[in-house]
Amino acid sequence: MMEVTLTCDKCRSAVSVYPDNQASIAKCSVCEHEHEVQFTEKVLKGELDCCPKCDRKDFYKQKDFNRKIGVTLFVIAAILSIWTYGITLVLLWLADLVLYNKIPDVVSCYKCETLFRKIKNLQNIEGFNHEMNDRIIYSNQDFEGKTLSH
Ligand SMILES: [Zn+2]
Ligand SMILES: [Zn+2]
Repeated sequence: MMEVTLTCDKCRSAVSVYPDNQASIAKCSVCEHEHEVQFTEKVLKGELDCCPKCDRKDFYKQKDFNRKIGVTLFVIAAILSIWTYGITLVLLWLADLVLYNKIPDVVSCYKCETLFRKIKNLQNIEGFNHEMNDRIIYSNQDFEGKTLSH
């Protein structure tokens, strides 16, 4: 089943919701702020077409990887490399190559940063596009699900 994680409008905490046609309010467990959500028929079936929070259709996918953990690992490897003559850094680089393909993709809404996991139409979603992001965030443009082409 699709997993939806909203970013709380008030405190930026992660708020998890599962698509359900009964669910219309997602409440933040940290600050208790309530967010209105609306799941489309397709979303209920696991196919992402429309954001349940902001109603937009523009999404991008990226590797579901915690950057903080990545940076921490890199720092540890860098410190250890003083004694291992850089071998730990090489090992980390190799581990990164192997693991990269195994990390699942997570889909994100450009507009409201809601995250979607385990969606069925992942292959139809493009990677992050800087220009689209800037236009959506700064000039509130709506691409209606069409990817910007040059
Ligand atoms: Zn909150
Ligand atoms: Zn959204």
